Amino acid sequence: MTRKFFVGGNWKLNGTRDFVETFVPILNASPSENVEVVVAPPSPLIALVRGRLREDWGVSAQNCWKVAAGAFTGEISAELAKDVGAKWVILGHSERRTIFHESDELIAEKVAHALAIDLKVIACIGETLAEREAGQTLDVVYRQLKAIAGKVSNWSGVVIAYEPVWAIGTGKVATPAQAQEVHAALRTWLTSNVSVDASSSTRIIYGGSVTADNCNELAKQGDIDGFLVGGASLKPDFVKIVNAKL
Ligand code: PGA
Repeated sequence: MTRKFFVGGNWKLNGTRDFVETFVPILNASPSENVEVVVAPPSPLIALVRGRLREDWGVSAQNCWKVAAGAFTGEISAELAKDVGAKWVILGHSERRTIFHESDELIAEKVAHALAIDLKVIACIGETLAEREAGQTLDVVYRQLKAIAGKVSNWSGVVIAYEPVWAIGTGKVATPAQAQEVHAALRTWLTSNVSVDASSSTRIIYGGSVTADNCNELAKQGDIDGFLVGGASLKPDFVKIVNAKL
C-alpha cells in the first residue's frame, strides 16, 4: 500500500492578510509532486487563504468545537471551518492539550464530530520530555491514539501526527531513528487494535522542529509519511519540506 506523502503547515497564531498576499504566491509557484499539502492559518484567515491558494493544496483549521453552533463564545465549529473553505482540521495539538487543558476525551469528541461532517482530521499525539525520560513514550502515545481511534470508523479521513512535545518549537528535532521507532510502533498498534488495512493506509507524519535541513533524512524513514511543520511553514523554505521526498 503506498501512502501519499503529506505535509501540513501549521501557522499557529501567526500571519495577517498582508502576509497571505505576499507568502501564498510563493507557495503557489513551488513544485509539488506526489505530495498532499495542507495549509493551516488562524481561523480568521481561512477564507482568504482558500481564495488565494492553489487549488491542489488544501486548507485546514487549527482547532474546532464539537457542536455545530450555539452559545460557545470564542469557538469555531467544524461546520463553520468547512463553510469558509477548510477541508481539514488539526485536533489534539500539544498546545491545545497543555495551554488549553484539552483532555483525551474532549479531543476524541471533537474528532468524532469533525469526521461526522466530513472534515478530515490531522490528529496529534506526543509525549513530553519528562514522559520520554521516564520511559513512558509508548504508553502515552498509545493512550492518546486509543482515545482517538475509538471514534474513527473511516481511516481515510485521518492523518496521525506524532509530535514529541520536547521537539515542538525548540529546535530540538527527534533523530530519524527516534521518530521512526515511534512511528513503527504506532503502525503496529493500528494493526493490532484497528485493522491491517488502517495500519497500512494511514499516514503517520512527524512534527517538531522540522526544517529544510533535517527533512530529507526524516523522510527516508519507512514509517514517516510526511510532516506537520510549525515555524518553518511561515518561511519560503516550506517548499523544500513539501518536496522532501523528491
Ligand atoms: P515546529 O511546530 O515545527 O515549530 O516545531 C510543529 C507543530 O507544532 O506542529
